[in-house]
Amino acid sequence: MISDEDIRRVREATDLVDLVSETVVLQRRAREFWGRCPFHEEKTASFKVDPRSQLYHCFGCHAGGDAYGFVMHTQDMKFIDAVRYLADRAHITLTETHGAKSQGKRARLLELMAASAQYYSLQLLRTSAPGAEAARSYLSGRAMGTKIAKNWQLGYAPGGTQLLGHLRSKGFTLEECLDANVVLKASNGRPRDRFYARVMFPVADLLGNIIAFGGRIIDEGEPKYLNSSETLLFHKRETLYALDKAKATITSRGTAIVVEGYTDTIAMHEAGYTNTVATLGTALTLQHLKLLNRFAKKVIYLFDGDEAGKRAAVRAAELITEDITPEAGRFRVQLEVAELPPGTDPAELLAQQGAAALQVILDTSQPLLKYALQQSLRNADLTSPEGRSAALRSALTVLLPIRGSILATSYIAEELVSQLGVDYSAALSLFNSMQAPRARETDNERGSRASGEASGTTSSRATRRAYGSAARETVAGASEADAAYADTGSGRGQTASATSASGIVTVVGLENELILLFIEHAEVRSLLARAFERIAWSSEELASLAQGLSAADREQTSGELYALALQLAPSYAPMLSAGLRQEFSGEITDYARLLMYMLRETQLQDEITLAKIAYAKLAQSTEGEDTFKEIADKQLELATIRERLAEIPKMTL
Ligand SMILES: [Zn+2]
Repeated sequence: MISDEDIRRVREATDLVDLVSETVVLQRRAREFWGRCPFHEEKTASFKVDPRSQLYHCFGCHAGGDAYGFVMHTQDMKFIDAVRYLADRAHITLTETHGAKSQGKRARLLELMAASAQYYSLQLLRTSAPGAEAARSYLSGRAMGTKIAKNWQLGYAPGGTQLLGHLRSKGFTLEECLDANVVLKASNGRPRDRFYARVMFPVADLLGNIIAFGGRIIDEGEPKYLNSSETLLFHKRETLYALDKAKATITSRGTAIVVEGYTDTIAMHEAGYTNTVATLGTALTLQHLKLLNRFAKKVIYLFDGDEAGKRAAVRAAELITEDITPEAGRFRVQLEVAELPPGTDPAELLAQQGAAALQVILDTSQPLLKYALQQSLRNADLTSPEGRSAALRSALTVLLPIRGSILATSYIAEELVSQLGVDYSAALSLFNSMQAPRARETDNERGSRASGEASGTTSSRATRRAYGSAARETVAGASEADAAYADTGSGRGQTASATSASGIVTVVGLENELILLFIEHAEVRSLLARAFERIAWSSEELASLAQGLSAADREQTSGELYALALQLAPSYAPMLSAGLRQEFSGEITDYARLLMYMLRETQLQDEITLAKIAYAKLAQSTEGEDTFKEIADKQLELATIRERLAEIPKMTL
């Protein structure tokens, strides 16, 4: 059985206009699309597709339905096969379960989330506990008084086991609380509330059902924002904060504004920009755009003009593929960007300068692709032929995803020829000779590799401090948007990445972190020992150290393992003796997993890159087939790793 949840996800991931356009020529009239009905013979178009409702209707033969109905009708499929067909098309993996049970579960979890939101809200509005008082003054200090708190159902999470106790008294089981991710098992095995001493922002689905929470810490501390992990209800790449509230205005104005935080979204709405939504600790994804495209013709991505913001914006440009360029009539969305002054967020700007100042910024929005092109030329050296040639290449790379479109060639003609002083036909032939873009990752969340930022190299002698920041750096790389969201506050530390002879970057820092965790935390030793076998250690000494530790008696004290480690890897003495002195929030097991997966992710990417280079040379031979298989296997592992990474609560290292 396919769960209702999956049926809903697949439906939401499918754009009916896009789907119908595969077989019917559609023309846009106002907000709807019209074509000749595929179910009866006709000369004039009486078949209508409505992108907002995602329904079709024929005024001639009265056929009508949704995406599933369309596939069942046109391809003569059963419902379940239509779901599988569209899931495949949307790259969604179905989790086939026991029907009624899963539907019942979804309903239970929705009830549980609603009860949690109500509880948090009461804590904020009614209790006199010091924490609730602090939460109220935090909010009122940001111009969010009782009225706003009620409108947005803001709350306060006291923590401990208070929510758990409340939910149990309402008849919810511990298992349900865990499944909804409002309760966690602590490292001692005892359950506790996931959110504590935080201002709570409920996140709703399109229909206004609460499916997740974001919690903001009230005082200083990390992480600044903590979001629900992925659950049966919540898929962050497919969810936009406040879309339930914003969709009506987005439809009527035709424009959606995308920002990055809860408080920014609320401030925007309060200032009259009720067409604002926010991503939830991820970069903008293709699923987000598809979702917005149902209501909006234009999406303005409003971001902080600091370096991290600029990079996030440029990465969003990768979402623009041929099927969303202006000439792609069926699924097109005009994606624009507007840049805030560096270090400013929308809420601050609105508070300090008012809505008019924000409007000025929105009015200067420009097409994202144009922006990405300009950014690629920003640091170019245009004084030498070499510099211009490098600049041309990097600018053309931006356009590769839309190669073959008129848009790409017009950007080359209009922007690059004049700015770089290159010959149009030479630029075009270089463009056509460039490697096709890599298979794009569906979530655009790949994050910049450490290689993008690794400028320096650090020897294994680097201090413990450097290793700590290396880990942070890599977290920032793993998901820049997440890191920007959590706002670690720590400056960009020195990276401990070392460029090996092949030019591929290996992350030494993470390997050290894992070794130290193994030594200091008995509870994660079994977990790590399994991981140690999978890791391609960057030096033989580290490999034998890992092997020696895995083979040692896991019950040994940290001191004994230190002594063993020093014997096994004497040149790592400085790293080992500095030890693990950092305090971190979250659970040690999650922390270990996070490091493990991040390290493996980096290594896999490097291995895939190398295998692809090898494959390019071997493609025709039988050896090529093996390499191809190897790449496929590694990509599969990479996908699994990323899924697991996404499940681990974000924490500050
Ligand atoms: Zn018809």
